[in-house]
Parts: sequence; C-alpha cells; structure tokens
Amino acid sequence: MNLARFPRLRLAHLPTPLEHLPRLSAALDGPEIWIKRDDCTGMSSGGNKTRKLEFLLAEAQAQGADIVLTQGATQSNHARQTAACAARIGLDCHLLLEDRTQKADHDYTASGNVFLDRLHGATLEHHPATPDMNAELAAAAARLAVEGRRPYAIPGGGSNPVGALGYVNAALELVSQANDAGLRIDHVVHATGSAGTQAGLIAGLRGMHAGVPLLGIGVRAPKQRQEENVFRLAAATAELCGCAGAVRREDVVANCDYVGSGYGFTTPAAIEAIQMLARLEGILLDPVYSSKAMAGLIDLVRRGEFSRGQNIVFVHTGGSVGLFGYVRDFGFPPDATAP
Ligand SMILES: *Cc1c(COP(=O)(O)O)cnc(C)c1O
Repeated sequence: MNLARFPRLRLAHLPTPLEHLPRLSAALDGPEIWIKRDDCTGMSSGGNKTRKLEFLLAEAQAQGADIVLTQGATQSNHARQTAACAARIGLDCHLLLEDRTQKADHDYTASGNVFLDRLHGATLEHHPATPDMNAELAAAAARLAVEGRRPYAIPGGGSNPVGALGYVNAALELVSQANDAGLRIDHVVHATGSAGTQAGLIAGLRGMHAGVPLLGIGVRAPKQRQEENVFRLAAATAELCGCAGAVRREDVVANCDYVGSGYGFTTPAAIEAIQMLARLEGILLDPVYSSKAMAGLIDLVRRGEFSRGQNIVFVHTGGSVGLFGYVRDFGFPPDATAP
C-alpha cells in the first residue's frame, strides 16, 4: 500500500510512541499491555482525528476551499482538532456542536474542548440532539456556498474513506514499530465511535496480511450496528487503497458492553480506568472514549479473555482535554486546601 499517492498535509507528530505499561500490566497480573500514543499527535493536545485531517484537509486545499465545517458532540475532540488544523493552514472553521447529553454545567458547555474551539478561532453553532447531524452539516455548507464561500464539509469524526486513510497509515506505522522492536502483537484494542479509526486500522492490517486481530470497544451504538458501520467504511477504504475485498465481515469485531448509560456519560469503570492510568502510568485518558475502551480492556483481562504471555496494544486515541468538561464526575474536593 503506497499511501504517498494520496494528497496529504503533515500536521501530526509521527510516528507516535509505542510504549510498554509495566505498572498497569503488573497491577492486572495478566498480559503485557502496550500503548500506542495517538494522544501525542501534537496539534492542540493531540488525538486520533489529526491523522485523518492530514488527508481530509489536503483534499480541502486541493478543492480550493476557504472554510471547513464539521460536526460533533459539544465536547467533540474531532471538532477541536479540526479547528486547530484549519488554523494551522489558514482556513476558517465552522463547527456544529450537538447537545447529545443535555448537560448544562459550565465545565461541559464551555470548558475543555469548547474552550479550545474558541481559542483556535472557530465559529460555533449549537444544535439540540438531532438524528442526522451530517444532513445539518450539508445544509450549513450549502448556506455558506450561497454566501459566496467555498466550504469543505468533513463528516462527523472525519470518518469517510479519505479520513480513514490516516488509520491505514497508523496500521503501517504500528506494525513497522513492532517489527523493529521484536514485539509480537497478539491483539490491538481501542475505542470505536464514528468508525474511521477501526475501519482504517483493519483495512491496513488486512491489506498487509499482518495477522493481528483488532477489537473496537464501542462508545455509542449497539454491537451489530457498530460492526456494520465499521465494515462498510473498511470495505470502501480498502478499495480506495487498491486492496478491494481485503476486509472480511468477520475481521470487524466490536464489543459494546461498556457504553453504560449512553454516549458522553461516564461510568464507574471508566472513572476507575482514568484513575488507574493516571496513578500507575502518569497517562491521561479521556472521559468519553479511551476510558471506556480501557475499562473494557481491564475487564476482559480480569475475566481471563487476555492472559499472561500475550502482548496487547491499546491505541490511545486522545481526548484528555475533555477531562476538564467532566471535573465534577470525579467527586474531588472543591478547593486545593481540602484534604
Ligand atoms: C473520535 C474519538 C474516538 C473514536 O474514533 P472514531 O474514528 O470516531 O471511531 C476515540 N477516542 C477519542 C478520544 C476520540 O476523540
């Protein structure tokens, strides 16, 4: 797979580190856990969307766009990375933020990612929970075109075949790092939402016959729907890369048992995962995605699904800035002088 035939901007700090987590592995007394630090992609505190934006914004530039639009939840990491990357290449950015949680506290509505969206100069438009936000996005792009702008609309999460190329690239990078390090990867685990990360990874892994199984831990949709979304996008992404048919339906596996009460709401297991990584490894997870994925991995290790002697790679997809939107979920004392 020669990804150099696709237009690409260099926005991310790559390759991201592949690190061992010795204290987490010892605490769980199971497999060796490794972490692929896609929380360290660089732009505006990092995250997985920057890899997708390298390909998406190259297409926007090639089309002569003067403004990019995208949509996401209020605390969207994708929206924040889009705002930062657009600023970096001198394009305006307009964000449609959907209120998926009805949380009204100031931390959630104005801190974390929302604060950074504004800092990067994006304009914001708020929407109540809406069944088809990509239709709202298309309507907003059409309005801008009528005003004489040249809009480029990026679907939620940057998840289309062009965006997913960023994770085909990540699969190549990960396997090459593991080969250099002499690391046999038995399983890759990560959070799956709008599907582009998992679709790109599986297209890359299958396209190069890596023999590495992948597990996506869902944060929103039920298993069947999540797997179908990922499979559809993975098939289209493989075709774009010139390896049509490389991904089989059975290669796409999602576990959606760790969503809890819904997208954007923390769970006790997610809070435990955040505290474990913070206290054992000094690593920050996020409250919406990577914490639920890590909670899933921890639970699967405790249940014996992954065992001693195996090497598991957790792809850290970023989002720690979102923690500041969820401070009250941790129940810490209100001021620094309290014990
Ligand atoms: C968007 C996001 C994900 C999910 O990636 P998708 O490509 O949308 O499936 C995971 N983790 C974080 C922190 C994210 O922001």
